[in-house]
Amino acid sequence: MIGSKIRPDYSDKIAEFVKNGGEIKQAVNTNRVDFNFSVSTGGLKQNIPLRKDAEAKGLKTYAPFSPCEKCGTSERSTKTNACLECDRRRARAKTGLSLKNLEAVGHYLLGKGESIEFTNDGQKYVLKVEVAI
Ligand SMILES: [Zn+2]
Repeated sequence: MIGSKIRPDYSDKIAEFVKNGGEIKQAVNTNRVDFNFSVSTGGLKQNIPLRKDAEAKGLKTYAPFSPCEKCGTSERSTKTNACLECDRRRARAKTGLSLKNLEAVGHYLLGKGESIEFTNDGQKYVLKVEVAI
């Protein structure tokens, strides 16, 4: 049945706590905010003055108190506080070459009558369009 769960009775523990010299006091609201920032280093309290300092100097980026936990780099945007490397990675993931993009490259090369040479690991390659038989 819903709502019929009986709450555990801690009265014995409380009695023991008081017997051992424990004091029961009313909780006081200190207005302190002690979040656990360990997950998002961008929100680290120590970053606030660093970011403000960079802002005052007109710098677009700043080095945070500790590196980003996701990518391990230390460069954040002063304006948005976003990790720049994480932003770049997101952008790269978005601009991954699709079949459509590759086809567009083919049309471009054909139209220009050009080929592209590039080197990878010391080996030269040529990217060119050929007529299919
Ligand atoms: Zn990052």
